[in-house]
Amino acid sequence: MKELSHWINGEHVKGTSGRFADVFNPATGEVQSKCPMASAAETEAAIANAAAAQVEWGATNPQKRARVMMAMVGLMNRDMDKLAEALSREHGKTLPDAKGDLQRGLEVIEYCIGAPQMLKGEFTDSAGPGIDMYSMRQPLGVVAAIMPFNFPAMMPLWHVGPALACGNAVVLKPSERDPSVPLMLAELFVEAGLPKGVFQVVNGDKEAVDTLLDSETIQGVSFVGSTPIAHYIYSRATANGKRAQCFGGAKNHMIVMPDADMDQAADALVGAGFGAAGERCMAVSVAVPVGDATADKLIEKLVPRIEKLRVAPYTDGNDVDFGPVVTGEAKKRILGLINSGVEQGAELVVDNRDFSLQGYENGFFVGPHLFDKVTKDMDIYKTEIFGPVLSVVRAKTYEEAIGLAMDHEYGNGTAIFTRDGDTARDFAHRINIGMVGINVPIPVPLAYHTFGGWKKSMFGDLNQHGPDSFKFYTRTKTVTARWPSGIKEGGEFNFKAMD
Ligand code: NAD
Repeated sequence: MKELSHWINGEHVKGTSGRFADVFNPATGEVQSKCPMASAAETEAAIANAAAAQVEWGATNPQKRARVMMAMVGLMNRDMDKLAEALSREHGKTLPDAKGDLQRGLEVIEYCIGAPQMLKGEFTDSAGPGIDMYSMRQPLGVVAAIMPFNFPAMMPLWHVGPALACGNAVVLKPSERDPSVPLMLAELFVEAGLPKGVFQVVNGDKEAVDTLLDSETIQGVSFVGSTPIAHYIYSRATANGKRAQCFGGAKNHMIVMPDADMDQAADALVGAGFGAAGERCMAVSVAVPVGDATADKLIEKLVPRIEKLRVAPYTDGNDVDFGPVVTGEAKKRILGLINSGVEQGAELVVDNRDFSLQGYENGFFVGPHLFDKVTKDMDIYKTEIFGPVLSVVRAKTYEEAIGLAMDHEYGNGTAIFTRDGDTARDFAHRINIGMVGINVPIPVPLAYHTFGGWKKSMFGDLNQHGPDSFKFYTRTKTVTARWPSGIKEGGEFNFKAMD
């Protein structure tokens, strides 16, 4: 059995705790490797190594740091196929999806090449007599990134890239379900010229995470994962005086107005609801057609499209629509929620509860499911299912539809499909959700904008990537400087003159 490692000071280091997590091949259900679970002592040692390496890295000029990012872009492109294969093998998503995962991470590394521009600071000449004032952005020091399983390349890169570009050292705690790609990325960063020790990968579970949260050396914590853990991490990190940004779960609604192009809406829902087996924080899991006639038309168009979806392992070619979910536990949880939907009175229009794939009977495959007549009180509506399940909630009016999305506790993404500009504008303006699509089902902002939800989808102030990431990973220091000739000319420092 292959034993994975940690990445400490630029080298693979075996775990010493004696504790391991199973890493599965979701397509076959077999355990393919063992991931070491770091002890508190191993985690503390990684933090101390990162702190030692950060001093020189933080003092390295931003352009040199940007060159590492530039080299990293080339190396990731060189190794794209190898990285995608490793990603699909542990996660289960199709190869095109794995490449998308890597590509969206890569785009943030490209954005980080602009670090010298982003870190320029501000300067006021002659703020008073002989007085100049300037603000600079300095790295926080050592930061931690605790990441989820569903985007094992993109999510770490969204945080590691900007944190490093700003001059921090990073301790990454990837998901224990698919840790291989983060380790491969760590190798590539060293090949790209990143000094050893500036980026450490500690594999583990709660013990490693709590050590990061309680460490006095860690200055900032970025977390992405489920809402209960996001809330826990935000509370503990901030109680310990750290800066924290914690991104949680989602229940994304797509509103379909009667004037929408129904074919486009159905295509969008199938891609956004079932792509990557629904294991995306921006997946659309609730469709809200306005009016019964719209609902009937939409369902009529959805059913044949969903029945055509090809569920298979990533090795089965490029026409696979989606693969297995990540673990047997996840499969059991999803099927349990589907059963609860039936018991609570929703209409299961596409039922694949007995789905099985010949030759892969032990794999974690879940077929696509479509529910109609879902209501607000049902568990399938309240809970993030994170599987290939789309719920249709029928609304009588636009007001009822927007109200549903506004009242839901999650606020990550949402979309409206309509041809009416007034309705679209009103929706974008009023909705209390962080990312909004107009005839775009998965409105994931590009690297130079920022990504983040509202309500229980995000705890903290600053978003992921874009300008916010450079703010999150730096501290502002403002210097007021007065020089002797200025004192001669202007006399004593006059605060009033600066009002
Ligand atoms: P998860 O919350 O189970 O795990 C995330 C990380 O937290 C992992 O590294 C895990 O080891 C760690 N962790 C788990 N339990 C912990 C505990 N009790 N104490 C300390 N650390 C703990 O999430 P997941 O299943 O890996 O990822 C799926 C979730 O992530 C979904 O809810 C999805 O919506 C969310 N997600 C959100 C975004 C976003 O930007 N909002 C992006 C991607 C995924």
